[in-house]
Amino acid sequence: MPATSPQRAGPSTAPAPGPRFDPERVRPDFPILRTRVRGKPLVYLDNAATTQKPRTVIDALANYYASDNANIHRGVHELSERATAAYEGARARVARFLNAGSPHEIVFTRGTTDGINLVAQSYGRGLAPGDEVLITEMEHHSNIVPWQILAEQRGVVVRAAPITDAGELDLDGFRRLLTERTRIVAVAHVSNALGTVNPIARIVELAHERGIPVLVDGAQAAAHLPVDVRALGCDFFACSGHKLLGPTGIGVLYGRETWLDRMPPYQGGGGMISTVTLDRSTWAPLPAKFEAGTPHIAGAVGLAAALDYLEAIGLEAVAAHEADLLAYASTRLGELPGVRPVGTARERSGILSFAVGEVHPHDVAAVLDDEGIAIRAGHHCAQPVMRRLGMAATARASFALYNTREEVDRLVKGLARVLEVFA
Ligand code: PMP
Repeated sequence: MPATSPQRAGPSTAPAPGPRFDPERVRPDFPILRTRVRGKPLVYLDNAATTQKPRTVIDALANYYASDNANIHRGVHELSERATAAYEGARARVARFLNAGSPHEIVFTRGTTDGINLVAQSYGRGLAPGDEVLITEMEHHSNIVPWQILAEQRGVVVRAAPITDAGELDLDGFRRLLTERTRIVAVAHVSNALGTVNPIARIVELAHERGIPVLVDGAQAAAHLPVDVRALGCDFFACSGHKLLGPTGIGVLYGRETWLDRMPPYQGGGGMISTVTLDRSTWAPLPAKFEAGTPHIAGAVGLAAALDYLEAIGLEAVAAHEADLLAYASTRLGELPGVRPVGTARERSGILSFAVGEVHPHDVAAVLDDEGIAIRAGHHCAQPVMRRLGMAATARASFALYNTREEVDRLVKGLARVLEVFA
C-alpha cells in the first residue's frame, strides 16, 4: 500500500546501532505474555499505563511474604530484622539505580503521584501568595493538580510553559516564564501522551541560574532510559514501581538531601517521629521523616527485584530496542491511509500517539482488543496537552523491552482492520 499519510509518525531512520538485544530472550520471563485474550495471543502495547512483571518480581513478593514478613524498624525479633534489612536494602538498591548521593535521599511513596503531592504539600508550605510554580503544557494531571491544590491553599500561581505543534517544549517560552517569583519548576522527563523526551539537564541549568529547584516527573523515563539524577542535576525525581516492571503501590521520590532536610513532614504518624508528647513532636531524620505509617515493605522488595532485572539487561540496550520499535512502528503506521501521528518531537521515547482518520480512538482500541491487542485510547490523563494540539483523545501504543517487531506487525494488521470496519 502506498504511503498516503501526510506526515510520518516520527523518526524514519533506523536508530544508531546500540548494544544488540533480543526481546525473545526475555519474553519467557514474563508469565502474562503467554496469556490469550479474545482467544488470541496477547499483544501488550499499554506499557505507559503499566508494565508487566517478570517472574523474579512475582517470586520476590511471594518469597517475602512466605519467609520474611514482619513490620519493620520497631521489632527486636529476627523476622523484623530481616524485613527491615530487606526494606532498607531496597532503598539502597534504588539509590544506586538513580545514582542518588545517599539512600537518605530516597523516600518510598505510593507512586509518582504521591511523590509530587509530597513535594507540593511539604516544599509548598513555605510558599507565599504570588509565588509561582512553573510547569509545562504537556504535563500529566499528576503534575498539574497537586500544584492547583497548593494554589488554592496558599495563593500560589501556577504557570505553564508553552509547547510547539510537534509537542516539544518551547525553551524560549519556558525561559520567559522563569521570573523573580518562580519558586519551583516541575516538568515531565518524558510525556506520557506524546513520548517527547524533555531536555532536563538544560531545564535544570536555566532554573538553577536563578536558584530555582526542579522536580522531574520521571514516571515514563525510569524503565526506558538510563536515569542519573546527579547528572541531570534535578532536585527531586518522582517515579512509580509499576511502570518499571515492579509492583503497584510503591514508588520513589528522590530528593536532594539539602532540600529534604529543610522540608517539613507531609503526613504524620508512626515511624516518622523522634519524640512525641501530647503537646508536640519532633521528627525522625531522613528519610523516615517522610514515611509515616507502615510502608509497602513487600512492594519495596519487589521493586528492588525489578531494578536487578532491568539492570542485568541494561537500560542502554532497552532504550536502543524501544527506539528501534518506535522507528519501525512509525514507518509501518505511516503506510496506512489516514493514520496520523500526534506528537512528532525529535527526541522521543517508545510512545506512539496517533489518530486513525475520523475514527474515535475508543473504537480503534475496541477493534484492536478484539484482535488481542491492548493499546490505550483517551486523553491519557493529560487533557491540557490534548486541548493544545486540538484533539479530544488519541490512540496510544507504548513499548517495553519485551515487545517485538512481529507485535508491531500485528498492530498494523489490526489497524488495517479498523480502516476496513469504519471505511
Ligand atoms: N506522570 C506521568 C508522565 C505518567 O505517565 C503517570 C502515569 N500514567 C503519572 C505521572 C502518574 O503515575 P502513578 O499513577 O503511578 O502515580
